[in-house]
Amino acid sequence: LSERARDVAIVGGGVAGCTAALYARRYGLDTLVLERAVLGGQAAVAVRIENYPGFPEGISGAELAQRIHEQAAKLGVEFVTAEVKGLARREDGTWLLHTDAEPVQAIAVIVATGAAPRRLRIPGEQELLGLGVSYCATCDGFFFRGRPVAVIGGGNTALEEALYLADLCPRVYVVHRRDALRADQYLQVRAAARANIEFVWDSVAVEVLGREQVEGLRIRNVKTNEERVLEVSGVFVAIGHEAQTEWLGSYVERNNGFIVTNERMETASPGLFAAGDVRDRPVRQITTAIGDATVAAYYAYYYVADFKARQQA
Ligand SMILES: Cc1cc2nc3c(=O)[nH]c(=O)nc-3n(C[C@H](O)[C@H](O)[C@H](O)COP(=O)(O)OP(=O)(O)OC[C@H]3O[C@@H](n4cnc5c(N)ncnc54)[C@H](O)[C@@H]3O)c2cc1C
Repeated sequence: LSERARDVAIVGGGVAGCTAALYARRYGLDTLVLERAVLGGQAAVAVRIENYPGFPEGISGAELAQRIHEQAAKLGVEFVTAEVKGLARREDGTWLLHTDAEPVQAIAVIVATGAAPRRLRIPGEQELLGLGVSYCATCDGFFFRGRPVAVIGGGNTALEEALYLADLCPRVYVVHRRDALRADQYLQVRAAARANIEFVWDSVAVEVLGREQVEGLRIRNVKTNEERVLEVSGVFVAIGHEAQTEWLGSYVERNNGFIVTNERMETASPGLFAAGDVRDRPVRQITTAIGDATVAAYYAYYYVADFKARQQA
């Protein structure tokens, strides 16, 4: 066990986690951030952010994430590389975080573990991950220059990915399980105007084919049950996001895996807060993640102050 209970431990070092940390630190809290991979989270892989206020020319996601991290580090936030695997409430009311390194004790915990792309869970997907299967066209699209690819999904992300790939690839199939898209109208108009984007309606992916690399995608028409193979070298999966929150056990209420909170970012357990993409809410953007984090840190501060006052009473 670490030598002392932190005021607040923040799980996840994406923009939500780093923002919560910088606010918590400015409230004078002893603040620790646990990040299992790369600081910056999803924002760090966004090539260009054009909707973050204050940057009319846009800013690279990596730079924005780096700046937020620097700002928090400068204030004295401690960052630790560790994956949090579980948590428990101790008898004294503090939280104990189990990690793949040292356990961490804290009075308040802010969960800012974000979201990850939803998987198809079909044969070949896992086996060919990085060998033609990707969840991020802006990250990997360039490798598929001059080759046919498929995008799976019918929402904004799917169409954004398809439009990006249409600049690089001779043919982009958009495979969608329904006969109409969910994406915003302006994206639909732009996609429809591209001669090399072909919509494959009422169809689901059933198998990614290939041994050393993707050689095709087997799809099935959900109305006729007919199967056929699209000859593609890349399969981009864009069917939404999911949050990994199993490690929180019954301490939180969930909706489809996303953590339910009130407006104060409080979960079902006092002293346990959630912020950012991991939270159950309709919009998942950097601005909303940062807004959540601001609120979570504020109420975490009051929780910690109350906790300490009760201990002294
Ligand atoms: C390619 C791409 C482009 C995007 N473009 C834009 C854009 O232009 N504008 C915009 O506003 N938004 C954009 N977004 C969305 C935006 O990046 C996210 O909404 C935002 O970054 C979410 O931040 P977050 O901190 O809540 O979560 P995340 O960024 O997902 O960060 C969560 C962090 O928690 C860590 N973590 C998870 N579980 C654990 C654990 N158990 N223990 C320790 N650490 C853990 C993860 O490694 C990760 O670093 C884009 C996203 C992507 C992927």
